[in-house]
Amino acid sequence: MAESVKLHELEFVPYLEKSDLEQIVAKLAARINSDYRGKCPLLVVVLNGAFMFASDLIKQLNGDVEVSFLRVSSYRGTASTGEVKEMMPVGVDVRGREIIIIEDIVDTGRTMGRIKQKMKDSGALSVSICTLLFKPDAFEGDYMVDFIGKEIPDRFVVGYGLDYDGLGRNLPALYQLNPK
Ligand code: 5GP
Repeated sequence: MAESVKLHELEFVPYLEKSDLEQIVAKLAARINSDYRGKCPLLVVVLNGAFMFASDLIKQLNGDVEVSFLRVSSYRGTASTGEVKEMMPVGVDVRGREIIIIEDIVDTGRTMGRIKQKMKDSGALSVSICTLLFKPDAFEGDYMVDFIGKEIPDRFVVGYGLDYDGLGRNLPALYQLNPK
């Protein structure tokens, strides 16, 4: 097992190993391959945090898919600011498309709720959510999260694309804020 890491002033302890993440991603890819067989979904990757997860997931998807990116931010430090800033639009016509939003983590669910509604308002045929991690105890949404890699406790995590104030995205495994 890896050792703990220090990012800025905080200590993070190992939580999920690279091999755990690989298994989670493979299972998600298998479910998407089965549910979207014969279709051509538009995958909308939520930046920045989902870039590593999306890259591993998308390589395992069969058949035709299109990929686009959306940049949002709602976090400062280790707490959600509550407001969701959309910083980069999808840039693709979503009308009539079957969308799968690829997200790193659904926490309160505000970010996803807002993106999902925006896609629907723009005329998407369907909008599913695929998230690597889901914090059920923090979730406040009134919608379904269709594809969940793993449910985790309501504790801040970093690594595998997720950052703490800019650091930690390059870690190949997942780390949790040390409760001590
Ligand atoms: P929500 O709107 O669901 O509260 O927050 C979603 C976004 O907040 C995620 O896309 C992610 O960028 C960030 N976030 C939520 N929980 C965590 C966490 O534990 N660690 C990190 N690094 N980011 C998180």
